[in-house]
This record gives sequence, structure tokens and C-alpha cells, in this order.
Amino acid sequence: MKFDFLSESDQAYFIHKASTLVEALPYIREHSGKNIVIKYGGHAMGDILLSQKFSKDVGLLKEVGINPIIVHGGGPQIGKMLKKKNISSNFVEGLRVTDTKTVKIVEDVLSKDINEKIVNDINTSGGKAEGFSGNKNNLIEATKLKIAVKNSDSNIEKILDIGFVGEPVKINISIIKESLEKGHIPVIAPLGIDQEGNTYNINADTAAGAIAGALKANKLLLLTDVAGILDGNEKLISSLSVEEAKKIVNKTFVLGGMKPKISTCIEAIKNGVKKATILDGRISHALILELFTEHGIGSQIYS
Ligand code: ADP
Ligand code: MG
Repeated sequence: MKFDFLSESDQAYFIHKASTLVEALPYIREHSGKNIVIKYGGHAMGDILLSQKFSKDVGLLKEVGINPIIVHGGGPQIGKMLKKKNISSNFVEGLRVTDTKTVKIVEDVLSKDINEKIVNDINTSGGKAEGFSGNKNNLIEATKLKIAVKNSDSNIEKILDIGFVGEPVKINISIIKESLEKGHIPVIAPLGIDQEGNTYNINADTAAGAIAGALKANKLLLLTDVAGILDGNEKLISSLSVEEAKKIVNKTFVLGGMKPKISTCIEAIKNGVKKATILDGRISHALILELFTEHGIGSQIYS
């Protein structure tokens, strides 16, 4: 055997490696030429080794003909910067009340610090990333988010004003398409702009879902810091239909940041995205495991 200069265990190791690559083939074929929108944030973004792996994974997707589009978050980094500048924030329904001074800092942290770092990381690992801010060139047209709260005594609904927190109304996909046509990997900061030229902070999951819907992406991947959607017994729900997701989103065991994630997946599928997965960004090569292996990871929502 030509291979007999290697020990038996080394042979088995290399054969395993080769078969792993071959195992990916049907998945590469499935996604090649298609758009995959990835919300990148939380823990995975703050860890140097994980962020290097993420950049390489994104580069690999691009090399095999898939179009990854990255939308990033930045909550913890924004929180740190506001603290440094002695600006305090109040939260309503999990959303930061954002005044004029705060939205300026949000814009700086998202569109400069974080966006530039992700673009640099991807470029350092050999990819060609291109940074975008949702509030520039009308990429993400937004409107002020209206939060309705019910007074528990009178049951009267009140609309709360939490400042410059927005929701997307239109995505100008031509900008993203142009970037993809140039062979670039678009990296988008979740900011929006309204008709008066006001800038808004948008939840990154919501922005990623709207972009995925507008592009009719093959997949929406929301990377987070938990295994996926956990049920009332803390067990991972690995696969669920949109109908099941609609029931689950209002259950008492779905709290905080998981609610907008599930709603985003439901909305994206309604808008033509094939599948949406909430997955654990703390796992090394989470993207590759999810896209290119039989088992996948996280919670997959399908239509
Ligand atoms: P990200 O930065 O990824 O957007 P969030 O903190 O906004 O993270 O949302 C993820 C968090 O949602 C988890 O860390 C977890 O604490 C919380 N969560 C609430 N309910 C659930 C649930 N049923 N399953 C999983 N996570 C949940
Ligand atoms: Mg969140």
C-alpha cells in the first residue's frame, strides 16, 4: 500500500479527514450560488480564537460558491462605550432607550469599531469583505419602532417612545447584490435611516431577518450564546415547523433575546427564506457544522 509509511492510526485519521470533505459535497451543491445571511454576535464575536475561526469559515463558504452576507450585533460593546462616557441607559421591554447622544455612540461603535474589525478579520484570513452601514445610501430604510404596552390595571394600551430604536421597512438589496457580484462578502451594521434622515439602532436579529427576506435567502443563521431554543426542561428543540414556532414564541420559557430571534425566523420564512436556524456561536466552526454535516446543530425552523 502506498500509504504504509504512515502508522495505522495516522492512516485512519487522514482517511477520516478526506471522507469529511466528501461528506460535505451534497451540502455544497445544495447551497452553491445561494445567499446565506448570518447574524454574528454575542459570545462568538468577543472571543479571539472563535472570531478567527468564524472568519475562516466565512471564507470557505465563499470559496465553494456560497454567498455569505454578515449582519453583526454589538450590544455588549455599546454598553461598555456608554459606561466609559458616563451615559446611563434605561431598558424597556429589553430594548435600550436611545436618545440623540446615545444613537451617535451606537452608530460609531457599530459602523466603525465592530464593522471594521470584522472586515479586517475576514480580509486577514484571505477573504474579501466589504463593510456597510445600514443607515448609509438608504441600505436599510427604517421607521421608529412603536412599542405598545398594556397597563395591567386599566388594560389601556399605551405607545412608548424609546427614542431612536427602529424597525426596517425596506432593504435596498441592489447595494448588497452589487457587492456580491464583485465577489465580496458584505458585512452590515444594523442601523437604519428614515425619510427625515434620522439614524436608528435596529436589533441585529431583526435586521438580518429583513435582509434575508428581501434577498429570499436560502438560509438565515442566527449565531448566539446558547445551544438553540431550549424547552421548559432546558432541552434543545432541534427542529420545528413555523407553525410550532408560532406557538412556542409566546410560551413562558421563551424570554428576553430569544423572543425576537424566533419572531425573526418566522417572519423571514413568511418572506420566502427557506430555512432559519438559531445556533450556538460558542462552538468552533459552528457554521461548517451546521451547513456541511449530516447532523447540523441548533434549532432549525422550516416552512
Ligand atoms: P444575542 O446576543 O445572541 O442576540 P440574546 O441575549 O439577545 O443573545 O438572546 C439569547 C438569550 O436568550 C440566551 O442567552 C438566553 O439567556 C435567552 N433565552 C430566553 N429564553 C430562552 C429559551 N427558551 N431558549 C434559549 N435561550 C433563551
Ligand atoms: Mg439579542
